[in-house]
Amino acid sequence: MRLILLGPPGAGKGTQAQHLVAKYGIVQLSTGDMLRAAVKAGTPVGLQAQEIMARGGLVPDDVVVRIVAQRIEEPDARKGFILDGFPRTVPQARALDRMLADREIGLDAAVEIRVDEGALLKRIESRIAETSARGETLRDDDDPQVLHRRLATYREQTAPLIAYYQLQGVLRTVDGMATIASVTSAIDRELTLALAAKPGSTVQKSSGKVAKKPPSKKPALKTKKSLKKPAKKAAKAKKVMARKSKKVAAKLGKKSKTKPRTVARKAKGGKTRRRSSR
Ligand code: AMP
Repeated sequence: MRLILLGPPGAGKGTQAQHLVAKYGIVQLSTGDMLRAAVKAGTPVGLQAQEIMARGGLVPDDVVVRIVAQRIEEPDARKGFILDGFPRTVPQARALDRMLADREIGLDAAVEIRVDEGALLKRIESRIAETSARGETLRDDDDPQVLHRRLATYREQTAPLIAYYQLQGVLRTVDGMATIASVTSAIDRELTLALAAKPGSTVQKSSGKVAKKPPSKKPALKTKKSLKKPAKKAAKAKKVMARKSKKVAAKLGKKSKTKPRTVARKAKGGKTRRRSSR
């Protein structure tokens, strides 16, 4: 399975991605994590990204596209992957389309975790306050002002991808304001539907394994034509019988009103059976 998780910062993409990793046995490819690792390692990409990330901007498209293109080539991504935080712009989405087309693979779904921005801001601000109260280190961009900027960036550059994937027919939306468990169930449901809707459909079993759709055991429905056949045959047989009885009646020299079988017996010189009065 190959899918994209779409949603603003703080929508819960990372949390849901972890659940999907466990359920489907696929890898989570988070461009944010890859870039943070590059910053930590002090690589040229890291040096370029550090300042942009700290102020809540977007790292240039060509940089992230290159990172993703390399990452999906690795053996652990063959079985499938969840793209978390990528694509974030329309040019990135187009680059991803090309990457997938070159490898003759496609996307199963783009899951949008829809959230209310106001409630989201409150949620993240309290998370930041709790993390610093516990004395844990905050991320460089875990700052209310930076957060506002990241949300604005999402609105301007990433939100258009919702229409982009809707046009591709792969968009699935879930309510991200529900509890984590409810969002997880909603995503599971949407992915089951997405897999079932695929041509050459596979059905999601409760075990999490993907199985071929079983062939239907229902007998094929009769067509109108086949339903009409017995009625036509009966009408034809009736006509033949009527014709025969007319012939026999003519031979006997009178118009018969008796039943065909009786008339036929009379014509052969047979006796008509009378009902016993006993
Ligand atoms: P995230 O952990 O996904 O919230 O990403 C943290 C930061 O990494 C973002 O605010 C961006 O600065 C940068 N980043 C992550 N993914 C991308 C991407 N696809 N395109 C550009 N910048 C990205």
